[in-house]
Amino acid sequence: MAESFPEIRDSVRALCAKFPGEYWRALDRDRAYPEAFVQALTEAGFLAVLIPEAYGGSGLGVEAAAAILEEVHKSGGNGAACHAQMYTMGTLLRHGSEAQKKSVLPKIAAGKLRLQAFGVTEPTSGTDTSRIRTTARRDGDAYVIRGQKVWMSRAEHSDLMLLLARTTPREQVEKPHLGMSVFLVDMQAAKGRGLTIKPIRAMINHATTEVFFDDLRIPATSLIGEEGSGFRHVLDGMNAERILIAAECIGDARWFIRKARDYARERNVFGRPIGQNQGVQFPIARAYAASEAAALMVAKAAQMFDRDEPCGAEANMAKLLAADASWQAADMCLQTHGGFGFAEEFDVERKFRETRLYQVAPISTNLILAYLAEHVLELPRSY
Ligand SMILES: Cc1cc2nc3c(=O)[nH]c(=O)nc-3n(C[C@H](O)[C@H](O)[C@H](O)COP(=O)(O)OP(=O)(O)OC[C@H]3O[C@@H](n4cnc5c(N)ncnc54)[C@H](O)[C@@H]3O)c2cc1C
Repeated sequence: MAESFPEIRDSVRALCAKFPGEYWRALDRDRAYPEAFVQALTEAGFLAVLIPEAYGGSGLGVEAAAAILEEVHKSGGNGAACHAQMYTMGTLLRHGSEAQKKSVLPKIAAGKLRLQAFGVTEPTSGTDTSRIRTTARRDGDAYVIRGQKVWMSRAEHSDLMLLLARTTPREQVEKPHLGMSVFLVDMQAAKGRGLTIKPIRAMINHATTEVFFDDLRIPATSLIGEEGSGFRHVLDGMNAERILIAAECIGDARWFIRKARDYARERNVFGRPIGQNQGVQFPIARAYAASEAAALMVAKAAQMFDRDEPCGAEANMAKLLAADASWQAADMCLQTHGGFGFAEEFDVERKFRETRLYQVAPISTNLILAYLAEHVLELPRSY
C-alpha cells in the first residue's frame, strides 16, 4: 500500500532525525520532558493539524495526524509527550462553544498554549468510568471541583486540562454514564488555588502524575457542551485517541522490525549472519506480517473517522491489533539482539518498555475484547 501523506511524512522524518536515540536515552535516564522536541513539532505546525484553518491550524484529519505520530515512533522517538493535544482537541472542536474555540484554538495553533492533560482515570474506579468520584458542584457562576485523578500524563507541561467530573450522583441518573460533565480547566490559574500535581515515577518516561482537586473553583463557562453529557462528549475523542495510539504502535513495530532486520544481517555467530537461521528470520517475518495487517485496520479506522462514520469497532480493533503487533515486534527485536537487547545504547530496551504500555493504556486489551464481544458480536455483557 502506498504511504499516506508522503510529504508530511518526509518533513516529520527530517525533524525527527535531529532527535536521535541519544536524545531520548538521556531523557529516559533522567525522566525528563522532551521540551525541545515538543517545541520543534509545535513550531513546524504538526500539533495543530487537527485544528481547522479558521482557527489557525491545518484543518487536516486523523489520518494525517496518524501519519505524523507513526513517523515519530518509527524514528525511535515517542509522541506521548504531546499526542494528547491532538485527540483531546476533538471534544472541544465538536462540543465546545464558538467563544471557547475562539479563545483557545488560535493560541494552541500558534504554540502559545498547550492542551495536553486529560483527566479521566481515578484510583478507585479503574476502567469503570461511571464510578468516578471527582465531583463538580455548581455554585453561582462557578463549579467547585473536588476529587482526585491518577495517571494524568503531561499535567506539569500543559496549560489546559480536559477534565471529566460528576455533576449528578450516579444513583440519581437513568444510566450510569449520564450525569458526568466535561470541563476545560485553565491549569495555570488553578495551580495553588486547589489544584495540586504530584509526579509518578513509572517504568517509562511519560511525565505522568496524580492530580488533586481541593474545592477548586472554575468559571461556569469552563463547561464544554451539555451538563451531564460529558461522557458522550469525550467518546469521539476516545476513538481518535485509539486510532492515533494505534498509529504510534505501528511506528514502533516498524522501528523494531527494521532494527532487528539490520542486526540479524550484521551479527555473525557460528561464521554466518544470525539472520540466515530460520529460527531468527521467521519471527521477524511474522512480526512484519502482523504489523502490515494491523496498519490496514488503522488506516481504515482513520479514514472512517475522517468521513464522520461510526468507527467504534474499527478504532478499537486498530488499537488492539496494532498494540499486539508492536509488542510482538518488541519481543522479537529483543530476542534477535540477544544480550545486547538489554544494553541501553541499542534503544531496544527503552522502546520495549515504552510499547508495553499500549496493552494497558489508554484502554486495556481485555476491555477492547469485551467491547467487541458485546457490541459487535452481540454476546452477553460480561461485566
Ligand atoms: C503511563 C500511563 C499513562 C496514562 N495516562 C493517562 C491520562 O493521561 N489520562 C487518563 O485519564 N488516564 C491515563 N492512564 C490510565 C489508563 O487509561 C488506565 O491505566 C487504563 O485505562 C486501565 O485502567 P486501570 O489502570 O484502572 O486498570 P483496571 O481497570 O483496574 O484494570 C486492571 C486489569 O484488570 C482488567 N479488567 C478490569 N475489568 C475487567 C473486565 N470486566 N473484564 C476483563 N478484564 C478486566 C484490565 O484489563 C486490566 O488488565 C494512563 C496510564 C498509564 C500507565
